[in-house]
Amino acid sequence: MTVQDRGQQADLPGDTYAVFGNPIKHSKSPQIHKAFAQQLGDALTYRAVRVESDAFESTVLGFFQRGGRGLNITVPFKERACALADTVSSAAEQAGAANCLVPREAGLHAENTDGLGLVKDMAANLGWQLQGRRALVIGAGGAVRGILQPLLQERVAELIIVNRTASRALELAQRFDNPSTAVRGCAPADVDGETFDLVINGTSASLSDDLPELPDIKLSARCCCYDLVYAAAPTAFMQWSAARAAWAVADGLGMLVEQAAESYYLWRGQRPATDGVISDLRAALLASA
Ligand code: NAP
Repeated sequence: MTVQDRGQQADLPGDTYAVFGNPIKHSKSPQIHKAFAQQLGDALTYRAVRVESDAFESTVLGFFQRGGRGLNITVPFKERACALADTVSSAAEQAGAANCLVPREAGLHAENTDGLGLVKDMAANLGWQLQGRRALVIGAGGAVRGILQPLLQERVAELIIVNRTASRALELAQRFDNPSTAVRGCAPADVDGETFDLVINGTSASLSDDLPELPDIKLSARCCCYDLVYAAAPTAFMQWSAARAAWAVADGLGMLVEQAAESYYLWRGQRPATDGVISDLRAALLASA
């Protein structure tokens, strides 16, 4: 049974897509997908929809029954999106969370494009080498769960996860244990004195311009530091990285656009170019500051 077979009439106009979350007002996804569609000459509608918690599943199923072509899912529904789907990609399964839903013959398919987006931004856009690097990930929430498998696929040499609630970091390390790359989870202070080539801030501390509890680490000569959060001005973590002479520092705007491009590709089979969209968003962000 396909999602369109489950009842309701397909009455959505043309190719309709949306992002579901709560809150949703801040979402830049409509702007990004509109830019992709313009670039590729596609006629489509993409809306940001605030969904109440008790109506998430019914709203998702209703959207696809009415002919919706694809959904992005954001906080706090990524885990529930994964649980709702009929088929789940390995990235979404390992993360236990999905940010993209695609209607297919076999039913609703869940994917997690966050980690792919991050890796694409670091490797392709920023030119950072990931293979063989010693990586530290700070945080153990939903976003970090989504980025670990893609990072491991890039064959980092070692992956250490630290979190202020250390038990969550340990749990993630166990979940992502694998024969090829050593994965360790611990409290921030447990890595004091160690040296890293790649440091990713996956906490939400930057949203309130705070610095998460950070270990007293050393940055290698070509250490790259990435904050999943993006802002008009460098975040507290980016400032901390620059003060320690990180070789390169970036925020998560490129990841946001790249995860959207992966979603667009999954829905429509065409991969939009992202560089112009990232620079336009950056300019708009700076202008709004
Ligand atoms: P989440 O599930 O709520 O997890 C938040 C994480 O941050 C937890 O590990 C939490 O630690 C930690 N944390 C929060 N405040 C902290 C503080 N003051 N000091 C130290 N640790 C702190 O959130 P999420 O979904 O993982 O999202 C994390 C961030 O990634 C968000 O800010 C989000 O905007 C960003 N993000 C960006 C993109 C992108 O495309 N650029 C995509 C996804 C997410 P505890 O476990 O101890 O509570």
